[in-house]
Amino acid sequence: MNNILQERLLLVRERIAVQCAASGRDPQSVELLAVSKTFPLSAVLEAYQAGQTRFGENYIQEGVEKILACRALAVCSDIEWHCIGPIQSNKTRLVAEHFDWVHSVDRLKIAQRLSEQRPAGMPPLQVCLQVNIDGGANKAGVAPADALDLARQVAVLPRLKLRGLMTIPEPAPDYATALAAHQAAKALWDRVCNAGVAMDTLSLGMSADLEAAVAAGSTMVRVGSALFGAR
Ligand SMILES: *Cc1c(COP(=O)(O)O)cnc(C)c1O
Repeated sequence: MNNILQERLLLVRERIAVQCAASGRDPQSVELLAVSKTFPLSAVLEAYQAGQTRFGENYIQEGVEKILACRALAVCSDIEWHCIGPIQSNKTRLVAEHFDWVHSVDRLKIAQRLSEQRPAGMPPLQVCLQVNIDGGANKAGVAPADALDLARQVAVLPRLKLRGLMTIPEPAPDYATALAAHQAAKALWDRVCNAGVAMDTLSLGMSADLEAAVAAGSTMVRVGSALFGAR
């Protein structure tokens, strides 16, 4: 067992718990997604042995290779795999056939392809819509003003289950800036829910800003470098 990884997992879980206490939230209300992109399967297995069961991958081909290797090993076949990276049209089938969740759906065409390509024998693909919350010109994500329409359209597609929203705000210089971006995401999430679209997941926060994300209402933080080290 890699003691450094085990220690970092404890530290990240502690950071989540401390912020939940400070924000008056149940620590069970925030899930930890371990972002294993660029790290080998051995790192995933070490984290799994330390009790981590949810993993996020950015690069679809790399993720699928780890998923297949893992499922071939009976020991970690219960890992939940989340696709959190950009999806080109020609990669939707790989996502639909292998991942459990996808956080990075930002247009209807991609959602339709995932819906058509999700094998009928698998559980529904769990979907979050990526929102370009701070309007970066070259950034992925549906515009906040269009998020409700997209959510309504995705919610009715077969073999998908809409779970929530995901954002990747610009790296923030300080806590207040990070908090403001995450609060904007929470406000949008509330608006979509209040319009009658059922969702239960707000995928906000990474290694550097998970406290601000939890303070704003994140239900899933995506943590890479604080667990696995610098990429
Ligand atoms: C890489 C990545 C993360 C993890 O970032 P860290 O800063 O390493 O914690 C989270 N979400 C997405 C979408 C990523 O691409």
